[in-house]
Amino acid sequence: MTDQAPPPSLYAAREPIFPRRVSGPFRNLKWVILAVTLGIYYLLPWIRWDRGPSLPDQAVLLDMANRRFYFFWIEIWSHEFYFVAGLLIMAGLGLFLFTSALGRVWCGYACPQTVWTDLFILVERWIEGDRNARLRLHRQKKLDARKIRLRLTKWVVWLLIAVATGGAWVFYFADAPTLFVDIFTGQASAVAYITIAFLTATTFVFGGFMREQICIYACPWPRIQAAMMDEDTVTVAYREWRGEPRKHSEEAKTEPMGDCIDCMACVNVCPVGIDIRDGQQLECITCALCIDACDDVMERIGKPRGLIDYIALSDETREREGHAARSAWYHVFRPRTILYTALWGAVGVALIVALFIRAEIEMTVAAVRNPTFVTLSDGSIRNTYDIRLRNKNGEERLFRMFVKGDPALRIQLEGTPYASVPVPADTSFLQRVYLIAPPGSDPAAMARSDVRFWVEDLTNGDRAYKDSSFNGKGE
Ligand code: SF4
Ligand code: SF4
Repeated sequence: MTDQAPPPSLYAAREPIFPRRVSGPFRNLKWVILAVTLGIYYLLPWIRWDRGPSLPDQAVLLDMANRRFYFFWIEIWSHEFYFVAGLLIMAGLGLFLFTSALGRVWCGYACPQTVWTDLFILVERWIEGDRNARLRLHRQKKLDARKIRLRLTKWVVWLLIAVATGGAWVFYFADAPTLFVDIFTGQASAVAYITIAFLTATTFVFGGFMREQICIYACPWPRIQAAMMDEDTVTVAYREWRGEPRKHSEEAKTEPMGDCIDCMACVNVCPVGIDIRDGQQLECITCALCIDACDDVMERIGKPRGLIDYIALSDETREREGHAARSAWYHVFRPRTILYTALWGAVGVALIVALFIRAEIEMTVAAVRNPTFVTLSDGSIRNTYDIRLRNKNGEERLFRMFVKGDPALRIQLEGTPYASVPVPADTSFLQRVYLIAPPGSDPAAMARSDVRFWVEDLTNGDRAYKDSSFNGKGE
């Protein structure tokens, strides 16, 4: 037994953060981005897009069952997944570009965690009041009727938002109006209900209770983004050389002080609960709400705005020496950002070109080599091929098939006496095809001859081809 005291716990309980309401240009910008991003997310699946009678009329649809993605007029088949990969690469490069130019601007303005947390805080403020009222309610130990009513109302509204969020997600994967009815009549698939339940739970917990903890502890991006930033990155910072030594009004009467009056407005509005005056911190999502708060204070005390501002650290020395900061463009356009922009543009151009030159019809040819050839009763040599045709149109099309190579070769389609086959709208169709070389002809005698299969859309004359070979006796 020992009477030594146990080591102090390294665990610190979370203190909830109740950011104060703030107004200003950055807050307004965040409201606009919140409205636009949430509007797009909730409404996009409901936009209709007429693609013809046999195709879905939903503008944005991830049709997993048929392995097809629809995005307005663009239709991506599963074998064209490189378009999706290209878009993901562009999103990554765009994130690198914005981070190297403007720091964690994605985190502060457009990240779903930020957007939904902002929305949840807005609801909380409507129901429980601004910072001080919420703090009082939080510290009130007694669970009286008012506290229960406010808490329940807030949680119910949060839950409705969370359900709508989970619900909106599944509409991207099925016809939205049909699925909407199915969900309420209990006819939707189990996957749909599980997805809604999962996203409802994560939205409710992440947006309502975990908030800044997701940004600080769960998200890997703060650790990665530092690699993309340098001293020319424009990010939110405190002009310490102007603000310090900070003062309370009493002290200011006796000694020269900086512009910061230590009012804590910047700290009270911060959604991650940090003090930007302590310098750059991993937790800061560069949302700029502290800029709005401090600018408001500076105006009221008759000092220039910008004590907290978007600043490049490379300007710090210049400003300390009394020179003006260089323009934002100087910092934004530098080799690193130009390289990211060039790569982003190159991938974008490549995708657009690929989109416009891709064929409306596609074919693959698989030669059946077991056996390599068959000798018919009249001595002719026959080879067999499986040709898969893709009709990417919204209507059935008649495809004519023909072959180029030795003129002696004759094409025959299994199941039809004709040289053309109808391929239903928006489908992939498998046709068995025979090539026959008469006895004594070159292809029948030679071990191998080159052939080119052609397919022609008889409606618009579009053509596609694939090369293969014909196996003869090799005499
Ligand atoms: S809001 Fe401005 S003046 Fe007030 S404490 Fe923050 S930096 Fe100082
Ligand atoms: S310090 Fe300022 S910019 Fe950073 S998270 Fe807090 S309010 Fe946003």
